[in-house]
Amino acid sequence: MMKYNYLIAGAGLFGSVFAHEAMKKGKKCLVIDKRSHIGGNVYTENQDGINVHVYGAHIFHTSDKEVWDYINQFAEFNNYINSPVAYYKGELYNLPFNMNTFYQLWGVRTPEEAKQKIKEQTSEYHNMNPSNLEEHALSLAGRDIYEKLIKGYTEKQWGRNCTELAAFIIKRLPFRFTFNNNYFNDHYQGIPVGGYTQIISRMLDGADIMTNTDYFDFIEKNPDIAENIVFTGMIDEFYNYRFGALQYRSLKFETQRIETENFQGNAVINYTEKEIPYTRIIEHKHFEGCDSKFTVISKEYPCEWKPGAEPYYPVNNEENNRIYEKYRKLADKEKNVIFGGRLGQYKYYDMDKVIRSALDITDGID
Ligand code: FAD
Ligand code: UDP
Repeated sequence: MMKYNYLIAGAGLFGSVFAHEAMKKGKKCLVIDKRSHIGGNVYTENQDGINVHVYGAHIFHTSDKEVWDYINQFAEFNNYINSPVAYYKGELYNLPFNMNTFYQLWGVRTPEEAKQKIKEQTSEYHNMNPSNLEEHALSLAGRDIYEKLIKGYTEKQWGRNCTELAAFIIKRLPFRFTFNNNYFNDHYQGIPVGGYTQIISRMLDGADIMTNTDYFDFIEKNPDIAENIVFTGMIDEFYNYRFGALQYRSLKFETQRIETENFQGNAVINYTEKEIPYTRIIEHKHFEGCDSKFTVISKEYPCEWKPGAEPYYPVNNEENNRIYEKYRKLADKEKNVIFGGRLGQYKYYDMDKVIRSALDITDGID
């Protein structure tokens, strides 16, 4: 007799939504994670009253009402709106690219003036049919924005030239002619009051949970533990890299407590010049407006993934997508294994898309 209906490898958002929905349908779930805690990358840790986003800033945003209502069952959300500021060679610019940014760059005051300036800036790229991130950025925003706000940040973040990257990476960022510093266009946005870990903990209520447990060791010792597997780790590792290794970007977080009330005046400041090795500094207290005499900040240093590091971002270029397709074909043939989430599906998913995907898949469970 198998003990569980589902063995879920990964206690991140995908695994947790899956477990929650499967349990609602009467299924028995065992959730394991190789980390020492649940939550995956949305894990937050309370440090003397400040909820620290241990794996980088996580702002919930979506236009999917069903997903918004779903996540709101598990926590109350505040009205936080992400408005990062960019630091470039001693100057500060509002993000995303909007009238405030255009004023700071060129002194233009009206949308008409801004459009004229951007027309000048993009004129030499006008007939370009953009085939990569650099060409897309130049033809959309022009030389100044590309050089000051995109090139350095992107090349640090991805460790590749902008000419080798796909344009979809920056299509995530709004470009608008209003004085609106909201980083997202989505209809709903906020931060869960009290952090994300409580959400995961509530989702997993009723499941058996084992942390510090690697799937590959565990399944070798317990091959008959469950009827089905849900795998949210790296799909290429699952198949022992038989079609070659997929590439990922990793990050190193340098987190420190500083005995000052307000270090940078904003939750997120991006450092867009290449010479500064980190991409952003997060000041965690500003997500929830915590009142304390000290603060906690994290510097985010991107690096290439290698075995032993955490794979945070899939690198969705043509070559990797081609390799992934081979793994996906194998995955499609599996009768009892479901692959989910950023690593299982090798997709640059935001949280809302992970929830949507887990809800759609669990919908099919009877
Ligand atoms: P994960 O959270 O990575 O969970 C997978 C889990 O599986 C991990 O806990 C891992 O330890 C475990 N695992 C892997 N392999 C094994 C194994 N062999 N055995 C056992 N366990 C294993 N999204 C937003 O919507 N808004 C944001 O502001 C935002 N900011 C982000 C900032 C950063 C720096 C990063 C990296 C991501 C951000 N995201 C954001 C995306 C968000 O983190 C993901 O969409 C979401 O967390 C993915 O959930 P998941 O369950 O797929 O993966
Ligand atoms: N980006 C940029 N300058 C910035 C912020 C972002 O050029 O100041 C680009 C960069 O290529 C980045 C992409 O836009 O990888 C997406 O940014 P986002 O903030 O969504 O990245 P994430 O939070 O997923 O790391």
